[in-house]
Amino acid sequence: MHCYKIFNELQNFKIKILHNIHKQFRCCVNCGIFQGVGPSLLCPRCEVKFLEMCYSPKRKIAGGLLVSSLFDWVENENRIGSILIKQIKNQCSEETIRFYCEKFLHKTGGPQSKSSTVIVPCPARSNKRQHALRIALAMGSILNCEVSDCLQFAKGGSQLGQKKLNKIDRTNIKMVCKVAVASKNIIFVDDILTTGATAWAARRALPEDCNFEVWCLAQRCRVATNE
Ligand SMILES: [Zn+2]
Repeated sequence: MHCYKIFNELQNFKIKILHNIHKQFRCCVNCGIFQGVGPSLLCPRCEVKFLEMCYSPKRKIAGGLLVSSLFDWVENENRIGSILIKQIKNQCSEETIRFYCEKFLHKTGGPQSKSSTVIVPCPARSNKRQHALRIALAMGSILNCEVSDCLQFAKGGSQLGQKKLNKIDRTNIKMVCKVAVASKNIIFVDDILTTGATAWAARRALPEDCNFEVWCLAQRCRVATNE
């Protein structure tokens, strides 16, 4: 009995030490330096570089939707942005998500409407990918605002990741509302906004007379082509 207790305590102690070592020696996800890496997962120099990326407009009308984003992201051209998106998708800590949500709210000034607002996350495409919900919950906790995970992808519509869908399939994304949303002010939250097709699917699933805005950490910018 005693031995078991001691063993258990040792186990807990080991976990604590490992956790602290990880925290102490966390390296910058961009340059690999070990010094001063906080919840942003970046060293102070890379954090400055990242914050310079956040000077994009607060709000834009994109494809007929009112969109707020922390930064614009161009694939293959924006290394820090790509790394951060990967980290957020791969189960980074709550404090990291909270850090970027706070930066987002600081930049955009939060909800447009002062009256009651409901934050609705993009539904997960699989159980593993709950990052939109995690972002929505962090935003809700900072703003003291209701979060309603009320949407789900409808059967029959396309549920694959956007990369796997062609142009026609993307307009075929369908969502349904599992529970009614009480507020007329709805903020749809996702990690990245790419084509806007997912956000539009959410818009169609929600009441027509609601005020709808989109919040995302990254807005993917398509480089203009000569097509
Ligand atoms: Zn760095």
